Amino acid sequence: MSLLQLNKVEAFYGGIQALRGIDITVHQGEIVTLIGSNGAGKSTTLKSICGQVQTKGEILFEGKNITSWQPHQIAMAGIAHVPEGRRIFPRLTVKENLEMGAFSVKDKKQVKQRIEQAFVYFPRLKERYHQAGGTMSGGEQQMLAIARALMMNPDILLLDEPSMGLAPVLVDQIFDIIQELNAAGMTILLVEQNAYHALKIAHRGYVIQTGEIVMQDYADVLLSSNEVQEAYLA
Ligand code: ATP
Repeated sequence: MSLLQLNKVEAFYGGIQALRGIDITVHQGEIVTLIGSNGAGKSTTLKSICGQVQTKGEILFEGKNITSWQPHQIAMAGIAHVPEGRRIFPRLTVKENLEMGAFSVKDKKQVKQRIEQAFVYFPRLKERYHQAGGTMSGGEQQMLAIARALMMNPDILLLDEPSMGLAPVLVDQIFDIIQELNAAGMTILLVEQNAYHALKIAHRGYVIQTGEIVMQDYADVLLSSNEVQEAYLA
């Protein structure tokens, strides 16, 4: 059974239609990537799943129809979203940012355990434990944004352009961490303009163009396809 399934999903910003009936399936344990150019509808796809834009069609998560659920219900159900631009709390410390990520977890011991777990993937954050989020580098803030999303112990992680604006060495680090999280069992839907890196670590991929899925296949097949190479890897 699929963990997450989008059936003919349309999305609207007022009178503007940003998604034109897309179908996407994510199975438990997969990294699925959604690639496409600026304005193609990648972020809107993630926002649709999280209940942040007006949609039509059907979104199923763990077999439940979540299409009309509120954003907080969707988050509580196990869907974590790391939006574009790493929106951490700049004035709060790393510790406080992580605690905010687990705001609904009452058991303090569990919160501590999850913070320790996050440090396994992000040792850098441990070194910066008492530093204000906003004073850290772009790469560290991206790590904090992902670590914070993991504090709810989600079943799926939706990542929106995690490599954006990062120096090449940090881009490699972020993609390595995404792969490590997946190897430990996390299911990931990864939105990227960096098609090469995304397809390198993904199992399957979808290509979106002006609100429509125009290609879908195993990631290695997409990576070697002429169309993808010309449009997204040139
Ligand atoms: P980018 O990488 O540039 O963010 P994207 O593929 O994520 O691109 P979206 O942000 O999903 O693209 O945008 C899809 C379409 O919806 C675009 O035409 C965009 O202009 C439009 N759009 C996005 N957000 C809004 C909004 N808040 N109001 C009106 N139109 C919007």
